Amino acid sequence: MPHQPLPNLWDDAKASKLDPVDQLVYRSNLLGSDQRITNTGGGNTSSKIMEKDPLTGEMVEVLWVKGSGGDLRTSKRENFSSLYQEKLIGLQKSYGARADKGLKSQAEDDMVGAYAHTTFNLNPRPSSIDTPLHSFLTGKHVDHMHPNAVIAVAASRRCRELTKEIFGGEMDYVPWMRPGFELGLAMQEIEKKNPRVRAIMMGQHGFISWDDDARTCYTKTLAFIDKAAAYIEEKYAAKGGDAAAFGGAKYQSLDEAARDKAFVAILPWLRGQVSQQKRFIGTVQSDEKILRFVNSSDASRLAELGTSCPDHFLRTKIKPLFVDWNPQTEDVAALKAKLSAGLNDYRAAYAAYYDRCKHANSPAMRDPNPTVILIPGLGMIAWGKDKSESRVTAEFYNCAVEVMRGAEAIDEYVSLPQQEAFDIEYWLLEEAKLQRMPAEKELARQVVAIIGAGSGIGRETSCRLVKEGAHVSCLDLNDKGAAETVNAINSKYGVGIGVAGSGVSNCGLATSAPINVTNRAAIKAAIDHTVLAYGGCDSVVVTVGFIASPDRDGRIKDEGWGFTYDVNVIGSCWCVEEAATVFKAQGLPATACITTSANAIVSKRGSLAYDTSKAAANHLIRELAIDLAPLVRVNGVAPATVVKGSGLFPRDRVIANLVKYNLSAGDEETDEVLVNRLAQFYADRTLTKAPIEPADQAEAIFLCVSGRLSKTTGQVIAVDGGLVEAFLR
Ligand SMILES: [Zn+2]
Repeated sequence: MPHQPLPNLWDDAKASKLDPVDQLVYRSNLLGSDQRITNTGGGNTSSKIMEKDPLTGEMVEVLWVKGSGGDLRTSKRENFSSLYQEKLIGLQKSYGARADKGLKSQAEDDMVGAYAHTTFNLNPRPSSIDTPLHSFLTGKHVDHMHPNAVIAVAASRRCRELTKEIFGGEMDYVPWMRPGFELGLAMQEIEKKNPRVRAIMMGQHGFISWDDDARTCYTKTLAFIDKAAAYIEEKYAAKGGDAAAFGGAKYQSLDEAARDKAFVAILPWLRGQVSQQKRFIGTVQSDEKILRFVNSSDASRLAELGTSCPDHFLRTKIKPLFVDWNPQTEDVAALKAKLSAGLNDYRAAYAAYYDRCKHANSPAMRDPNPTVILIPGLGMIAWGKDKSESRVTAEFYNCAVEVMRGAEAIDEYVSLPQQEAFDIEYWLLEEAKLQRMPAEKELARQVVAIIGAGSGIGRETSCRLVKEGAHVSCLDLNDKGAAETVNAINSKYGVGIGVAGSGVSNCGLATSAPINVTNRAAIKAAIDHTVLAYGGCDSVVVTVGFIASPDRDGRIKDEGWGFTYDVNVIGSCWCVEEAATVFKAQGLPATACITTSANAIVSKRGSLAYDTSKAAANHLIRELAIDLAPLVRVNGVAPATVVKGSGLFPRDRVIANLVKYNLSAGDEETDEVLVNRLAQFYADRTLTKAPIEPADQAEAIFLCVSGRLSKTTGQVIAVDGGLVEAFLR
C-alpha cells in the first residue's frame, strides 16, 4: 500500500496561546503521540528561548531540552531541563582542553556531569546525554526522532547514498556514533560546512532536524518521515509487497485455538527457564505483522543480525531467540526441546559476547536470558520486569521488524556492530541510570490468581496485592464483578505503556476471567487465561465460599450439603491443584492461600454444612502443604464475621441475623446501617472490639503470598478480632 502521509496535528489556535516552553511541550506531545514518529521513551526535542536571567536581570538564551527519562507523548514542562545556552557552548572550551578527549572517552562522559553546572533557574531535571546535539545545532527548535521508516534508511548498508537519493541536499549524514559530546561536535561541523542543511541522518540510529520556527520544525519532521516511508513503500510494493516480505512465507500460522494451546503448554516452563535469576512477566503477540516475520524464510537470518537503534536493544537485548520450529510438521514436545537447546545456546552466546566486548571497568554481566523469543506459527513472547516493560520490549521488537522490512525493501539490513551495542548496553552512564531506578516493590514480578476477586475479600486482596507490585488475575463466577475489580485497578494504576499484546495478553496489572470452582475444566481455563496474560503464575488465592441457608426448621437441604462441600472443599482443592501444575512447570517457589473461617473451630448450632466444610478446608491446607512441599507453601486465613462487602451477607441474611440476636432491623433502614449494626455486634464479642473488614483479611493474605512468612506452611492464620471460642487448644 502506498504510504499515507502522517496527519499534521498542529493547531495554530491552540499553540499561539501557549508560552514558548509550553509550545515545546505541545510539539513534543504531538510527536510522541504517533509510534510511526518515535518509539516509547525515544527521541527528544528542544527550543532555545530568550528568558530573563534571575541572577542578572538580563535576557539570556536558555536551551529547554527534554531531560533524561520519560516519554515525549506524556512529557510535561517538568520533564524538560533548562540550561544556559552560552555556558553549554562554553563547555566546548574545557572539553577541547582535555588531553583524553574523544569518542567514548572519560572526558566525554564527564561532560554529562558538567551539564548540571549550566542549569538555568535551579531546574532540577537531569539533562539527557543528547543535550549537546540540541545545543550545538543552531536551529531555535530541534527534533530528534526514532521513526521506523528513517531508521530503516539508517540501518541500510547504503545509508549514505540512500539519504542523498531520498532527501537531496536537505539532509546530511553522520555515521553511527554513540550519543554524546562528540556527536554534538560532529553535527556542529556538518552545519558549519553546509549551512543549507536542515537535518542529519544518524547512521544506525534515527535523525535530527531543526528550524527557527516551531511549527515548521514539526511539519518538517513529519515531512522527512513521510519521504522515507513513501520511498520504502514504493520499493516494497515493487518487490511484491507483503507476500514477498522477508523472502516470503516459509511456514503458516496456527489457528487461534491451536496457538493458545501451544502457548499454554510452553509458557510456564519457558518462564521458569528465563526467570532463574529474576522472574519475568510475559507479553504474547500473534498479530499479522509479527507472524509474517516469524513465518518468513529470512526470519532466522535477520533475527540473528540483531536490532539496530540503541533504544531497541537496551530492551530487546542485542538479538532475540529465534526457534526454528516447523508448526506444520512438528509437535509441542519438539518445540520444547528446540526451545531448551536454543536457550542454552543463547546464554552461551551472550556470555561470549560479554567476554569478547567487556572493558576493565564494565559492570558485571547481566541476565543472559533472551527477552524476545520468536516462534514460527505462534508469534512473539516478550519478557520484562513487569507487564508494562514486557509490552515495551514487544513494541521495540515490532519496531525492529519494521526497520528490517524497510531496510530489506530498499537495500540490505545491517545491524550495529556488537562492540558498539555492548558499549551502549554496558555504558557506565546507562548503568548509573539503572542504579537510580527506584527499588522494586515487594511483590514485583509476581503473578497472583485470585479466585473470588469479584467482590469482598477477593476484590480487596486484588487491590492490596497490586499496591505491592503484583499482577493479578481476577477470577470469579461473577465475571462482571471481576471486570469491575480490574477497572478499579486500571483507573488507579493505568494499563501501562508499550504495544498491546494479543488477545488476553493485552492487559495491564490486572486481568479478569470467569471461573466456576465446581468444574475442573473451568478452573483450568481460568488458570490458562492467567498464563496467556502474563506468561505464568506464582500464587493462587482462593477466597470463594458458599453458605447454604437452612430452612425454617434450621435444616440444610441435601443438595445444600453437596454444594457447600463442592465449593468450600473440593473447589478450593482443585483451584490449588490446577495452579500447582503451572507452579511445577515453572519450577519456581510459589504459594497458595485459602480462605477458611473461624467457624472451622467454633462449634455451634445451625450451620452444620458450612462449619464442617471449613473444618475440612483447614485440613485440606495441611495436606496440600505436605503434597506440594517444598515448591509451594500452602496456608490459610480464617476470618470471622466479615459482614461489610461480603457476598455471604446479603440484606436478608443481615436482617435474619439481627433478628436472631434481638437487635433492631427496620425495613426503612439502609443496607449500610444494618451491616454496621451487625458488624459492631460481632465486634463486641471479640477481644479487640473493632469490626473485621475485608481489608484485614487482605493484609493477612498479603503476608501469606509475600516472602515475609517464607518459613510458614500448612498453617491457618486467624483474622477474627480475637475470638476466644476459636482459640486452638
Ligand atoms: Zn536517539
